[in-house]
Amino acid sequence: MNNKLLLTHINVEGIRGFDVYRNHGGYTSVDKALKMTPEEILEEVKASGLRGRGGAGFPTGMKWSFLAKPEGVPRYLVVNADESEPGTFKDRFLMEYIPHKLIEGIIISSYCLGTNTSYIYIRGEYSWIPDILEQAIQEAKDNGFLGKNIKNTGYDLEIYVQRGAGAYVCGEETALIESLEGKRGNPRLKPPFPAVKGLYQCPTVVNNVETISSVPSIIEISGAEYAKIGVGRSTGTKLISACGNINKPGVYEIDFNLSVEEFIYSEEYCGGIPNGKKLKACIPGGSSVPIVPAKLLLKTADGETRYMNYESLSLGGFESGTMLGSGGFIVLDEDQCVVRHTMTLARFYNHESCGQCTPCREGTGWLYRILKKIEEGKGTYEDIDLLWDVQSKIEGKTICPLGDAAAWPVAAAIRHFRDEFEWHINNPECLTKNYGIANYA
Ligand code: NAD
Ligand code: SF4
Repeated sequence: MNNKLLLTHINVEGIRGFDVYRNHGGYTSVDKALKMTPEEILEEVKASGLRGRGGAGFPTGMKWSFLAKPEGVPRYLVVNADESEPGTFKDRFLMEYIPHKLIEGIIISSYCLGTNTSYIYIRGEYSWIPDILEQAIQEAKDNGFLGKNIKNTGYDLEIYVQRGAGAYVCGEETALIESLEGKRGNPRLKPPFPAVKGLYQCPTVVNNVETISSVPSIIEISGAEYAKIGVGRSTGTKLISACGNINKPGVYEIDFNLSVEEFIYSEEYCGGIPNGKKLKACIPGGSSVPIVPAKLLLKTADGETRYMNYESLSLGGFESGTMLGSGGFIVLDEDQCVVRHTMTLARFYNHESCGQCTPCREGTGWLYRILKKIEEGKGTYEDIDLLWDVQSKIEGKTICPLGDAAAWPVAAAIRHFRDEFEWHINNPECLTKNYGIANYA
């Protein structure tokens, strides 16, 4: 069965507006939650097993329970809508087409966390979405779901939308907080985690759009029922934004027991690969996660099926696995060049590095330059070893995960597609002469 929790009413005309959303059961979870205690809501979220949908998959209930509550100090909820991971566009879809789902989730989450001011920090490139969100906020306010004394409960909440200026690193939660405070978006060292010292040095929960948008369903059906949907520690449903060489790019809500093969080839989802081409590889969780060759995705070496969930995709660790990450599913057909694809990503990470730590600031530049040299047919076999050496000196040695995100795609590309690197060393022209989607970043 294909469960729909987030996109249930996505095709209903006018669902973006309050009245239609309300007529289709919208805000009934807020009605219910406001009759519960914050502790009861927290227990439901913990029981649901919901994991952060931004990429890290950290248990949401656990994150909320870490929130410090010193006397007289305000707390904040910040929704991370700085969706910048190449290949990832599912939060944009939610905010654009069903914005009240997010507002509803923010109200319940803020009430649970005891925050009276919450923020949505949205990437600058989503220039048309803040107006949609602000209208939804105003409608919720006009109907008594925001502002002072919400539904006569004595609870006050304001939501503000803050536009970012288009820096990828501001999706990292502490860089986002710095930017929200009006400073340059440089990531902070953790610990302390935002749950202890976040916005204005106050306890803060930072959660992704999809994570917060999942909260109304948990309240509606209960945490226990939500946990029953899914497989193991991958509970509920997940939005996947699919792109690259597929017939039907778009945003899909999937069950975690869906196989990768079915996701790519079934008409219900990606609809297969255009022109009958063969699958070369996938990057299932946004550009930061390791690329995986088709042979390990469709049918693993040990004959196992790979499923679209946190555990199955990471089987075998980084040697043969990858991550579900943010759910930005990128498909490469047999005509795509992995070296060029990896070079394009390296250029992106180099451009987006904030420059605070040497391994990332210098290393990402090295990665890009070596890859470019190889891609242009000017490389040597020693350059492949140098590339490997440089990426290994970045991973785990930086303040924020951007360094890892730059290193992992390079490591995975060499691990699985060394033959394509060697081809480029001997040939000035691209293996496939088709630059196609490898230029997307
Ligand atoms: P992380 O694992 O460091 O942290 C996950 C969350 O758990 C954070 O909110 C952190 O504050 C919290 N946390 C962890 N340990 C804690 C503790 N002991 N006490 C309190 N809180 C704790 O990961 P991250 O740096 O938040 O995110 C990295 C991920 O972001 C990557 O996996 C990548 O896939 C993803 N990403 C997503 C996008 C996007 O556009 N959606 C862009 C770039 C990266
Ligand atoms: Fe900045 Fe890169 Fe260091 Fe992150 S890893 S803090 S982006 S230099």
